[in-house]
Amino acid sequence: STAALTEEEVIIPPVQVEHTQLLINGQFVDAASGRTFPTFDPRSGDLITHVAEGDEEDINRAVFAAREAFDDGPWPRMTAYERSKIIYRFADLLEKHNDEIAALETWDSGKPYEHTANVEIPKMTRLFRYFAGWADKIHGLTVPADGPYHVQTLHEPIGVAGQIIPWNFPLMMYAWKVGPALACGNTVVLKTAEHTPLSALYVSKLFHEAGLPPGVLNIISGFGPTAGAALASHMDVDKIAFTGSTGTGKIILELASKSNLKAVTLELGGKSPFIVCEDADIDKAVELAHSAVFFNQGQCCCAGSRTFVHERVYDEFIEKSKARAMRRIVGDPFKKGVEQGPQIDKAQFEKILSCIRSGIESGATLETGGERFGTKGYFIQPTVFSDVQDDMAIATEEIFGPVQSILKFKDLDDVIQRANKSRYGLAAGVFTNNIETANTLMRSLRVGTVWINCYFVFDAAIPFGGYKMSGKGREKGAYCLNNYLQVKAVVSPLKNP
Ligand code: ADP
Repeated sequence: STAALTEEEVIIPPVQVEHTQLLINGQFVDAASGRTFPTFDPRSGDLITHVAEGDEEDINRAVFAAREAFDDGPWPRMTAYERSKIIYRFADLLEKHNDEIAALETWDSGKPYEHTANVEIPKMTRLFRYFAGWADKIHGLTVPADGPYHVQTLHEPIGVAGQIIPWNFPLMMYAWKVGPALACGNTVVLKTAEHTPLSALYVSKLFHEAGLPPGVLNIISGFGPTAGAALASHMDVDKIAFTGSTGTGKIILELASKSNLKAVTLELGGKSPFIVCEDADIDKAVELAHSAVFFNQGQCCCAGSRTFVHERVYDEFIEKSKARAMRRIVGDPFKKGVEQGPQIDKAQFEKILSCIRSGIESGATLETGGERFGTKGYFIQPTVFSDVQDDMAIATEEIFGPVQSILKFKDLDDVIQRANKSRYGLAAGVFTNNIETANTLMRSLRVGTVWINCYFVFDAAIPFGGYKMSGKGREKGAYCLNNYLQVKAVVSPLKNP
């Protein structure tokens, strides 16, 4: 199949889908059942192609391959420098194929191409280089003991890592998961999200071209309750890493404990506060708060989806936020200048529209938007609510769409208490020029990331993860290596007894 990119302003040539099968033991293969499922273009709802539908039997095949590659294969046994060279070569191939990869990602997910091509794929490349750099810098300690013993620790890979990723950042999540797992010498079975199976297959082929041995990285397309659950329950998987909704995270943890107590890290939902203080430069705050919500069609776990604004600047902030949302450029994500593409699919599109209706019914003021955009595909108008109260569903539930909920606050104590009154604790934004205010908020907010006068800064070295029901563990940065390592204590007498 080929993307039908006929309109004038479209900025890239058509892109082909090359790989639709499962990737097991270095080979593209059909699902054991022979079944396939469709993946759609969210711009129109049209079919892109059918891909192999992996289920339990395919997970078993993939885990078997990963197990063999770990227990007997070269990957954990080669020098760390050799491993890092393969990962660096992969990064070079990502750079070389940047635009095709970006086009495939946009086609399957609806993200603006200018962003996938200029930001996301280059960041993915950067992440792999970052983790390649870690591969040969992982080592243990020499530990003092009370008795006459020599004690050392070995930091060993944990084994076969199962990874389940969502559709909102298909390749970024692939990089966050696969990068550290492979750098530490593990082998991987990764299940992509059913909405966005294409890009991971394409890049994993490149990984093999870079010299990755067969079985080290296996990619299964398929659904959560079948393929995903089989991976989380598998007795031969040593660790599971998941990014997705809090509800599914609970299931993953349960499946892991019911099976073999595999190690679990979870990256879950959020309802992150973005706090605009009274001393803020309003124009800058409006712009940053806007992108904190609307970026990626609002489909971000750490979207700044509760915009708290100090009462003294509230009215001006509302007017300007409304005007900014009305100026947001919605359209075909392959066109130049487009800021917002379609939502991922019909189900999400309908869920968001129903959240908007609930906002109206609960008495919030709809400042702009509120309806679908255009007549085809899954586009939604940038929507702004003011007069939002803490207990309304639009202030407590994750909407995962282009909907800004603006709340008024009185003073720092008020906003700290309300910002923290959430089951979630993923991130927060703080907009102020007062260093005391910034310090107070930074220490009081119970969240995994505080962005001060910035938002969505995601460098490879910055750890990311949730407090409370937003997750367990940290990804990226040095902190995430622990997720993929285990510590062996080695003890020997100083003198033979
Ligand atoms: P969303 O609601 O954003 O689609 P999910 O948490 O349902 O979030 O999906 C994230 C990932 O989890 C996807 O790859 C999906 O297939 C997978 N998934 C969904 N349900 C399950 C499940 N019961 N067991 C394992 N994985 C699942």
